[in-house]
Amino acid sequence: MLFPRLPRAFARKFHKTENKRERTIQGQFLIPVPSGSVLSDSYPTRVSHGQLMLSHNGTKVLAPVNGVATLTPDQKFFQIKQDGSWSTNSVYKHQSYDVHTMLQAFDDGALASLDLMNTPLKDYFLKFKTNSSFTLILSPFSRYQHLDFEEMTLTSMKEAFHSFVELLNSIFPKADVKNYFEIPDLHYEHPNGIPEYFLHKQFQWDVVKAKKSLQSNEVLYLGAETIYHILRKLYYGEPFTKRHLAVFLVDRKGRMDLEPRQYFLTNGQSLAFIPANMDKRYKIASFDTVFEAIQPMDVQTLGYFNIYEHYSITLYERLPISRKEFSCIDCMECNQYCPTQANPIQLIKGKKEEFDKDKCVSCGICSVYCPAGIDIRKRIEEVLV
Ligand code: SF4
Ligand code: SF4
Repeated sequence: MLFPRLPRAFARKFHKTENKRERTIQGQFLIPVPSGSVLSDSYPTRVSHGQLMLSHNGTKVLAPVNGVATLTPDQKFFQIKQDGSWSTNSVYKHQSYDVHTMLQAFDDGALASLDLMNTPLKDYFLKFKTNSSFTLILSPFSRYQHLDFEEMTLTSMKEAFHSFVELLNSIFPKADVKNYFEIPDLHYEHPNGIPEYFLHKQFQWDVVKAKKSLQSNEVLYLGAETIYHILRKLYYGEPFTKRHLAVFLVDRKGRMDLEPRQYFLTNGQSLAFIPANMDKRYKIASFDTVFEAIQPMDVQTLGYFNIYEHYSITLYERLPISRKEFSCIDCMECNQYCPTQANPIQLIKGKKEEFDKDKCVSCGICSVYCPAGIDIRKRIEEVLV
């Protein structure tokens, strides 16, 4: 370990506490209300955990706790003042489902695919007919973060996982269910969690075919974090009101500490506890991973946890790259590290047509490895628009 560990509370794992009854007073919660949202009630009103608060473009947001919800004067947030205790009793209970009751549970639990952008799970499943043939992938990886949801699932939710696999087989008897859990040789490395890349790697499909199979619903893809929340709803009765936040540290020399750290947080809860519990050297934070465009902020201004946007946070001793872009030095690192041979150097050489945009899975690796600090990711976005 290159630099000091954070306090124990900072690294605690969810399953140490998950199956116990939690009783905590967490105070105020703040939940964004996007414009165009349909509110489920007039506010202020009392809400209880799991109750529908708003719908927006098919996505539902549920009350994360019991309390009194009010709209802020600008109508842009719900403020929930938690009253009394909040209890979670996550004990496995076997339930039988058919396709209708399963989809109803997805809807009631506000479940969304955490692998495909902005896709409510019920709507996603409705694209697949129960009597049709397609490939159904259960991937042990998550799109956005390296947390080991496979291990979490198999450690404390194994029975639920096997019930779910049986359920899928009974609902979709003609589907080819490919379960990649419990395969010892399969290890996570970015970008294995990106669905089209996972298909490209496992089936040796070219990336274009992999993308098409997802778009045309030849493949139903469920990553490990999505599966984790499905199990919580179907077999533990827990709606999607909590999510893991993976925490990474980067020291002043730019070295990243990859030891898995995570919190299991409630939607809308304040993130002020992060700077309060951490080494004061980490002053900068970004909710984006190093493979995305970093949007740095003062660690004291993290605000509130948003279950649909926050899955990872990187804490920096100092801002890593505010350097200028230098000229390309023809080192070819971008091409060498590109996992799909999309030929990103051509974007820098001004030969956009020779960049194979159909092969690009937007993993961000080329930008991370460019020694000249060229934001290749931005050039790719311009081409993909
Ligand atoms: S071009 Fe860059 S972002 Fe696209 S797949 Fe290759 S490394 Fe990833
Ligand atoms: S990694 Fe950067 S400097 Fe090297 S060839 Fe690619 S764009 Fe040029």
